[in-house]
Formats: sequence, C-alpha cells, structure tokens
Amino acid sequence: MTETIEAPATLRQINHWIGGHSVAGTSGRKGPVYNPATGRQSGEVGFATVEEVDAAVQAAKAAFVTWREVSLAKRAELFFRIRELVHERRDEMARILTSEHGKVLSDATGEVTRGLEVIEFCCGLPTLLKSEFSEQASTGIDVYSIRQPLGVVAGITPFNFPAMVPMWMWAPAIACGNTFVLKPSEKDPSASVWTAELLKEAGLPDGVFNVVHGDKVAVDAVLEHPDIAAVSFVGSTPIARYVYEKATANGKRCQALGGAKNHMIVLPDADIDMAADAAVSAAYGSAGERCMAVSMLVAVGAVADPLIEAIKERIPKVKVGDGLDPSSEMGPLITREHREKVASYLDEGKVLVDGRENCPDQGFFLAPSLIDDLKPGMRAYEDEIFGPVLGVTRVATYDEAVRLVNESPYGNGTAIFTRDGGVARQFQFDAQAGMVGINVPIPVPVAYYSFGGWKGSLFGDRHIYGPEGIDFYTRGKVVTSRWPDPATSKVDLGFPQTR
Ligand code: NAD
Repeated sequence: MTETIEAPATLRQINHWIGGHSVAGTSGRKGPVYNPATGRQSGEVGFATVEEVDAAVQAAKAAFVTWREVSLAKRAELFFRIRELVHERRDEMARILTSEHGKVLSDATGEVTRGLEVIEFCCGLPTLLKSEFSEQASTGIDVYSIRQPLGVVAGITPFNFPAMVPMWMWAPAIACGNTFVLKPSEKDPSASVWTAELLKEAGLPDGVFNVVHGDKVAVDAVLEHPDIAAVSFVGSTPIARYVYEKATANGKRCQALGGAKNHMIVLPDADIDMAADAAVSAAYGSAGERCMAVSMLVAVGAVADPLIEAIKERIPKVKVGDGLDPSSEMGPLITREHREKVASYLDEGKVLVDGRENCPDQGFFLAPSLIDDLKPGMRAYEDEIFGPVLGVTRVATYDEAVRLVNESPYGNGTAIFTRDGGVARQFQFDAQAGMVGINVPIPVPVAYYSFGGWKGSLFGDRHIYGPEGIDFYTRGKVVTSRWPDPATSKVDLGFPQTR
C-alpha cells in the first residue's frame, strides 16, 4: 500500500441540503472524502454548526404543518414516483457509493436494491396506517384508534451503507407524515445529497427531507434540539449507547442500532462446500464492512479441518480490486486508519491467510484473511473487526457453540449450517440474537419484517423498518365518540362506565 496521494488543487465541495436547497457550510470545519480504491482525496464536506442544524430543523418544522395534511393517497402516489426514480437510476447511485465507500459495483447495486424494498413497502402506506374501530363499544359510543406522525424526526447513519440505511429511516418516517433531518456519515456523504435531489425531483415538498453533514457537534445539536421528536441511529455500539442515553434524557423517542460480532456455526453434518461458499461470501463481501458480516466461524467437531481447507481454496480466487472494475469482487476498506486497525488483528492468533500479502499497491486494500484457533478473551475474538478477517474457533459440541453465541455482548445476527432440521429448530429457539439464519449466512429480514439485534446491538424498544418502523415513527391516539340527542343530556359526576 502506498502513501495517500496528494489531493487535487480543487476539491468537490459537498454541501448541506436545507429547505430544498444546497447550502454551503459556514463553520470552516471540514472533513476529507476519499476514493478508497486509489487513496486519493476526491472531495471535502463541511461540518455543520449548531445554527446550521437548527436551520434544517426549522425548515422541517415549517414543512411538517402542511406535509402531515397530505392525504395517504397522495403520499402513496409520491412514493411510487420515488420508487421509479431510484429504480431507474440505481446504477448512477451505485457508482457514487463505490467511488466514496469502495464496495464493488455489484454490491453497491445490491445495497440500492435492498433499500428500494423499504421504499416499496412504504408504497403500501394507506394499508399500513389502517387502524381499529369498535362500533357500539358502549351504548351509542364508538371507539377507534389512529396513528399520527411525531413531527420532526432525525436519522444519524454509518459509513457502510450510505444509501440503504438512510432509506430504512427516511422512507417510513416521511411516508408516515413526519419531516426528516439526516446526519449521514461524514466519510461518504454524497449519496445523501443525491437522494435529496432525487426526492425533490419526485415532487417531495421542500423542507420534508433535509441533510446536515458533520461530526459530534452536529450529532449533539440533533440530540439536544427541542423540536426533534425522535432519533434513529445506526453505527457502532459505544456511539449507539451514547446517542440512546442522550436522546432519551432529552425526552426523545430513540432507536439506536449498534455494532455486531456475528457467529456462524457449522455442524459436522453440514455440506462442506455450501458452508465454505457461505462463509467466504459473508465474511469478505463488502470487505467485511457489514454489520451482518460473518466474522466468527464456530466449527463443531470434525468439521473444522475440511471446512478450513475448503475456505483456503476459495480465498485466492476472490478478486480484490477497484470496485468500479466490474470484475472486482471485493474492494478496499473505508480509510487508511481503519485499514491499519483491521490489519493489526493479524498480529495475533494462528494466521492461516494473511491479507497484507497480495494486496493492490494503492488505496486502502486488505485482502481476505483467515485466523484459526481464536478463543474468548483474545482481541480478534472479542472485537468487532469490521474488515475482511474471518476467525475460526473450534468446539466439540452444539451446546458449546450456542454458549459462545449467547455469551457474546452483541446479538445482531447469527447463523447455523446443518442438514438436521431438529437441531436447526432448536437453534432458532436457543439463539440470543435478533436475526437468525438457517443455512443463510446473512439473514437480513425482507422489508415487511423488521431489522434489529439484541443486547449491545440495539438500544431501544423498536427494530428498524417494516411494521416496527411504522410504529416507531407514529404515535397512537384513541378516540371515544358519541352523537347523542342533546335532549338526553344531564350532569353525571360518576366515573364513565361502559353499558
Ligand atoms: P460510527 O459509530 O463511528 O458512526 C456512526 C455515526 O455516528 C456517524 O454519522 C458519525 O458521524 C457519528 N459519530 C461518530 N462518532 C461520534 C461521536 N463521538 N459522537 C457523536 N456522533 C458520532 O460508525 P461507523 O464507523 O460509521 O459505522 C460502522 C459501525 O456501524 C459498525 O460498528 C457497524 O456494525 C455498525 N452498523 C450497525 C448496523 C446495524 O443495523 N446494527 C448497520 C450498519 C452499521
């Protein structure tokens, strides 16, 4: 890997999006945006001040007054237009993702497609917001429930899915009648501005969707703003905990999704080739920078040696390179610092494949790596590495394997590979994680279920998108109504009873 290449004299400036317009930052504080495949800086993003965050919130607050009145039919129609535009332009969006995040084009297109599923789910909004009605709950009295938007809501998102994770938030939030302020990752911020322009083109009124870039200053301004009713966060566990505590201390509803360390158990009866294909795909796809990546392989009994051999055969065939090259299967990591941190895990354990060898010689690349004999207590076993490093731990029994899953402080995803339906069903019962795969290594739920982990992988009560997303972005109201003949009216100080 060579040193970072000098930035060009004129850098692309990435601006905020407030009230339907591009707004240049005024703080003077900025962050670099790189093309991780070359190591070259491609742009810079202005970090918002407290006042700039407030301007976005005020734009959203003003827009809420009329946006919440827009009929469900018109909102659904708009979502169909958004769906069409994102679908038509997904290749364009994928290129933006690849050039700032580094993931290969096919993976970037997959990201947009999975995000589109959430937009498609929101096209069914009129059905999703249908409520309950009890006629004649008491004599002459009807009772019904309605769900209403919260007001201005905010999303704070990580670098690894710069398009899809914001879609998990803004699509249901806006569909439900809220207005939205997004604080995307400062490492790959262009997708959010591209989204803002697309939403405007689709016909979304100005102020309904806003973007402010930045760091802790912008995040704290969001968490402390009195006019923000709810915050969705996705990112690492320490920041998720911080955001949850601060948001709720300030009276906000909050869902904060954190990091992960996902175990994939392989039982002795599993098909070795299928398990090896799955492990390689799930560990090294997107260079391991997925919260649902498999990072620990738990090999039960005699399966370990043949499984490791099968994985070692596959690793040299993974084509590592610039994500814009259609033949590349795995791209670089997000920054030089992150690449160095991930590589440092290769200094411990029994390293079978060292990704520091055979790397492209520019950019932030680290090739697929494999470490055997990891055990609880070792750094590479405990930490969320978030890179293309797959660890293997060997255990004798299913019970030991499940104990490892359940003793993890994280509980995002986990998977089991077996041909035994009874054991798989037992695993689904036993596993302390929010998303379980049976012969599926990355069990990201479809859009009409909800996504979320347990333990240190989620702070809050509601998972994200799907039915729980609709619940999160709305609040319930129950109406009790009667239309009596005024002639029957009288004073009655007793507590109302049903009759
Ligand atoms: P991160 O926690 O560093 O950043 C997430 C967001 O928080 C960014 O917008 C960032 O600007 C902001 N932030 C960073 N430091 C902050 C601070 N000190 N105070 C306030 N705000 C701060 O996460 P990342 O590195 O961008 O993303 C990778 C992490 O996200 C991994 O841990 C991964 O597992 C997790 N992730 C989780 C899920 C999930 O669904 N559970 C999905 C994707 C990513």
